[in-house]
This record gives sequence, C-alpha cells and structure tokens, in this order.
Amino acid sequence: MIEDVIRKIEAADMILVGIGEELDSLCHIEKEEQYRKTAAKINSEESAWMLPFLKKSILQRIEKKRTGIYEGLQTILKQKNYFVVSLCQDGLLRQSGLDQERITEPCGGYDRFQCTKKCSAELYPVEERMIEQIRGFWESGQLIDRPKELFCPKCGSGLEFNNIDAADYLEEGYLESWSRYKKWLQGTVNKKLCVIELGVGMKYPTVIRWPFEKIVYFNQRAEMFRIHDRLYQIPEEIRDRAHGICRIPEEFLMELDVK
Ligand SMILES: [Zn+2]
Repeated sequence: MIEDVIRKIEAADMILVGIGEELDSLCHIEKEEQYRKTAAKINSEESAWMLPFLKKSILQRIEKKRTGIYEGLQTILKQKNYFVVSLCQDGLLRQSGLDQERITEPCGGYDRFQCTKKCSAELYPVEERMIEQIRGFWESGQLIDRPKELFCPKCGSGLEFNNIDAADYLEEGYLESWSRYKKWLQGTVNKKLCVIELGVGMKYPTVIRWPFEKIVYFNQRAEMFRIHDRLYQIPEEIRDRAHGICRIPEEFLMELDVK
C-alpha cells in the first residue's frame, strides 16, 4: 500500500496533505510522567497560568526526538506542488524542512502570545528566559523566585499562547497562511490531485476531514488516502476514489522515508 501511495504522489499534479491531532506532540506530553507530576503541583488558581509554559518546556525537550517523523514527507514533497494543513500545535512541521509558505496551522501553537482580552491583533514573541524560569521554579520545588505573569502592553490584561485553547482565540495568527491555502485550493480544479490525510480524527472535522471529502467528491481526478488507526472509514459517495488505510499515522510517515 505504501508503494502505491508514493507512486500516486509522484504522478499527481498537486498534493494536499492534512495532518491531524493524533500526530500532535502535545497529546503525548499530557501522558508524560514528568509533566503529570509537575502539573499535579500546579493546583491553585493563581498558578494555573504557568501550566501552558510547562507544556512548552517539555515540548522543547522531546521535539528533537519527534521532528524526524516528517522527514520522509519532506523528501517526497520537495519537488512537488503541495500544501499542508495541520491541526497540530507543536510547531514541528515548520521545523521539518517543508516550505513555510505551504503550511497552515489553524489551531495555532506555542510560539507567540496574544492578549487574553484580544484588545488588538498584535502577537508577541515568547521569551525563552520565561520558559526556563517557570520550569526551574517547579523543578526546584519552588525554591527560586516565583515567576511573574506577563501582561499585555496595550491594555494590561494577561498574555497567553496564541492557540485554540486560548479563552478568546485570536485567529489573525493563522489567517494569512489560511488565505494562501484557499487560493492554492482554487488552483486544484481539474488537476490531478492526491489527497493524503494522516491521523485526522473528529476533534475538528470541519477543518480537514469534511472539507477534504468534499474536495475529492467534486474533483473527479482526485484520489484520497486516509491513514488512521481507528477512523480510516470512507463515505460511500467517494469510495471509488478514496482509500482508508488502517495504520498508526506515525509509523506510516516513517515508512515514507524512502531515501
Ligand atoms: Zn490587551
């Protein structure tokens, strides 16, 4: 099957890739022993704001191990006309060597801050020092100075990471890449399109899963591969041009590494 997918990618005019929540390292972090232990200590309301920082710090620790999962995909797409839509918040896709202009991450991530009150569309850089300080504070058993919360320079409300878990998510963070994606999609009409969906479940079906089905339904020259270890089913209407592959998406990605 994997050879078949590789052949189809090579023969296609355009390739649309959807990366789902199953591949997000953040899901792995919540299961991590160290994260759980520390998170259990952050149980008071006044410390709750530090929890996402802790996630970010553990993400930094495990990201080296995990960036490799996209290497095969990068190799195979390199010379092609592609676009990748990702639900992941771990930012790893952008470190994979794929063209930044061909990626959109509508769920945001842990790279920038926004105002909790959304007083403006401004995004602020995340300071490395702050992440280290919070990690140190909890790992030292709170023996060092208590980190101070960050505030919006415009209105004085708190700052939080610009992602879908924000109380009031500032979508401006991804809209530019999203409109690039929409424009790219317009160009797929009547083109031989290969659609690859990896680990996309039902958490946000309106972003990738359902629209991809629709694209395949309307484009008679499209062919789709849906890779998921449980939700690989294909709706009746597109069954002749779509294939459900029951595989763990990470393992499938590793096998794409054909070099
Ligand atoms: Zn503000």
